[in-house]
Amino acid sequence: MKAAVLHGKEDIRIEEVMEKPLKQGELRLAIQAALTCGTDLKVYKRGYHARMLVPPTVFGHELAGIISETGVGTDRWSVGERVVVANSAPCGHCFYCLTAQENLCDDLLFLNGAYAESIVIPSRMVEKNLYRIKSSTEFSSAALTEPLACVVQGLADLTPKSGERALVIGSGPIGLMFVSLLTSMGCHVAVLGRGAERLQTAIELGAESITELRNDSSVESLQTGLGRLDLVIEAVGKPETWELALRLVRKGGKVNFFGGCPAGTQVNFDATRIHYSNIHMMASFHHTPSTFRSALGHIEDGSVPAAKFITQQRNLDELPFLFEEMAKGSRAVKTLIVP
Ligand SMILES: [Zn+2]
Ligand SMILES: [Zn+2]
Repeated sequence: MKAAVLHGKEDIRIEEVMEKPLKQGELRLAIQAALTCGTDLKVYKRGYHARMLVPPTVFGHELAGIISETGVGTDRWSVGERVVVANSAPCGHCFYCLTAQENLCDDLLFLNGAYAESIVIPSRMVEKNLYRIKSSTEFSSAALTEPLACVVQGLADLTPKSGERALVIGSGPIGLMFVSLLTSMGCHVAVLGRGAERLQTAIELGAESITELRNDSSVESLQTGLGRLDLVIEAVGKPETWELALRLVRKGGKVNFFGGCPAGTQVNFDATRIHYSNIHMMASFHHTPSTFRSALGHIEDGSVPAAKFITQQRNLDELPFLFEEMAKGSRAVKTLIVP
């Protein structure tokens, strides 16, 4: 089968890869849709992922497909079923799994290899994080479940209430998914981000105001322009926007530091402001089987318009060139890869 193989820093090659025979409990999927993601771009730029990937390796983690082969002991599944799979499966017996925090599982098993014609689903994932999709759900929409599940996790931690004023910092796919869900929960949403097209998409998804974040934007002018903010979500992953989030939230407000910064990043927070303004600070990582299921529900009931997040389509062969473009800063929200 054909697959994109990451050989190192900024080195993707489309190669013919041997299909592995299935072990007990495993399934093979014929991949119908894969989506690009900021995490994959980071992996491309660095040439590896500390927790998940050592080159040469297949990669990509947002996918949906059709079961093409079933291993021994997978009687609940049949060839031809349309499914979406999460990119991880928790162990089910560590402290975190037993306390409904499977996103923090001590032994999270990751799945990579979405940029390929087929993929083997390990038995733990078949048991814990594989879902049938409706015949009316597009594969490309189903592939959005993984990033949306992270956003659902972020909102489960943030607990927004209807009528609250929320600011999303960041207009990438994650920021835009926050806009979509916060709006559907009855929040008034403002977006601070970059790129006219992405900000326009934020409006289409229900944002009431958009502000272009410039290098010379002053905190005071942003505070004046944005007004009282009950909730601030940082969906960029840079120390400057983490610091900005804390400065923009109202007294007694909540901040979710959702965007992950590179390892070793330090941020400067004013401890006085955190204490005397009674700021609630939190961060959210990854997803659980429960938030994954709920994300799929939002896609299938139409409350999140998945198609809005996918702005272009490429063939698998074009992937090396696409990642070059992305590394140069292309502004597509997400690209659908069709094997
Ligand atoms: Zn992703
Ligand atoms: Zn566990």
